[in-house]
Amino acid sequence: MKKIVLATKNQGKVRELRKALSHLPVEVLSLADFGDLPDAVEDGRTFAENARIKANFYRDQTGFDCLADDSGLEVEAFDGAPGVYSARFAGFHADDATNNEKLCTELKKRQLTSSPAAYACVLAFAAADGSECWTEGRCDGTVRLTPHGENGFGYDPYFYTADYPGRTMADLTLEEKERISHRGKAMRAMVQKLEEYLK
Ligand code: IMP
Repeated sequence: MKKIVLATKNQGKVRELRKALSHLPVEVLSLADFGDLPDAVEDGRTFAENARIKANFYRDQTGFDCLADDSGLEVEAFDGAPGVYSARFAGFHADDATNNEKLCTELKKRQLTSSPAAYACVLAFAAADGSECWTEGRCDGTVRLTPHGENGFGYDPYFYTADYPGRTMADLTLEEKERISHRGKAMRAMVQKLEEYLK
């Protein structure tokens, strides 16, 4: 059976991706199955560049087909920032709390209480034979100073979805989020491509 390596150390993402691929005739591995691998240098300027860097790097490291993702938040009032720097918006040791604090500070600096925003995700697949493909998913909404909801992670309590008016991403169940989220959309498009590839 063919093997696909999920090129992420985030166990939450491994679980989600494993679930989405469960009907395919592949053995799904993760980086945890390969011991101590070096980290890919994510120095791309776009989500697509970073996802492709990771997929190709870990394909070269493991010799197997690899699937990687990169995602983040783009805020219109900040000219698309934090973008590929979403995880480190508040600095090198940032966490969700400090990143969200920075989000609010930057809105207030501009005397805003909200801004249109979008989550974006790119999934990249690098095959052992050197071929590659990628898919993208976007999810529109508005970031506001007023957090709400207990679910999700990252910027979710501040991200009011266009699909469920009045509700933040953190108000949604995992199933509701998967239906509308950037990652869910990119994943469904990638599953279609992998179904073709594995035929
Ligand atoms: P990465 O794709 O693991 O590099 O994540 C980038 C960063 O974007 C995360 O650390 C979060 O801050 C943010 N992010 C990406 N997807 C989501 C999401 O679905 N909800 C909230 N924050 C997200």
